[in-house]
Amino acid sequence: MLFFDFHFHHPRHTSGIRNLSLLEPPGDSAFSAGIHPEDILLHPEKSWNWLQNVSQHPNCVAIGECGLDGRTGINDLFQEKIFRQQINLAEELHKPMIIHCVRRFSNLLHDRKTSTVPMIIHGFNKKETVADSLLRAGFSLSFGKAVFHHVSLQQILKKIPLNRVFLETDDADFDIRLLYEKVAEIKKISVEELADAIENHLKQLKLYGKNMAGENGTPH
Ligand SMILES: [Zn+2]
Repeated sequence: MLFFDFHFHHPRHTSGIRNLSLLEPPGDSAFSAGIHPEDILLHPEKSWNWLQNVSQHPNCVAIGECGLDGRTGINDLFQEKIFRQQINLAEELHKPMIIHCVRRFSNLLHDRKTSTVPMIIHGFNKKETVADSLLRAGFSLSFGKAVFHHVSLQQILKKIPLNRVFLETDDADFDIRLLYEKVAEIKKISVEELADAIENHLKQLKLYGKNMAGENGTPH
């Protein structure tokens, strides 16, 4: 059984999509690469060149995390510009996007209208009304450790169709299996059924079998 971790930073974790740090060279298993909204002022030109290069790598399975963040204090128009560039890159390469969004969901819904690549909101931790509008707009949602203690997220998970769900550890260090067990319990299904559904979701997005670390039980 594959306990796929849709978005992680921890180098010790072994199954799923590892998010490259800014300016980090490509890894030997599946990774995502993007410019996080918090980082867009750091070294704009260097970052953009880096992203254009690493995103061509066969192990780069998704663009991100990138998106919009209302907490950063960075000008919204500039954030939007850098995000648009990354959407265009994803469109060009036909790669899905891993989205980071804080307090800018209406802008994000607007951006969605003019793009065709699959978009997955990572670390979803918002209200049901937000979840509903994102699902209607075609986003998938990836859930992390907040599920363990947020009853409102558990309620959302009860209803959300399995073909729109991913699970992730993000920057936390815990065993992703515990999250699979928790979500299976919430959805009243077996852990196997949940793992199968997530595998199908990966296939649907053409992400399955792309040199994912830990696939076929061979972590490296
Ligand atoms: Zn992250």
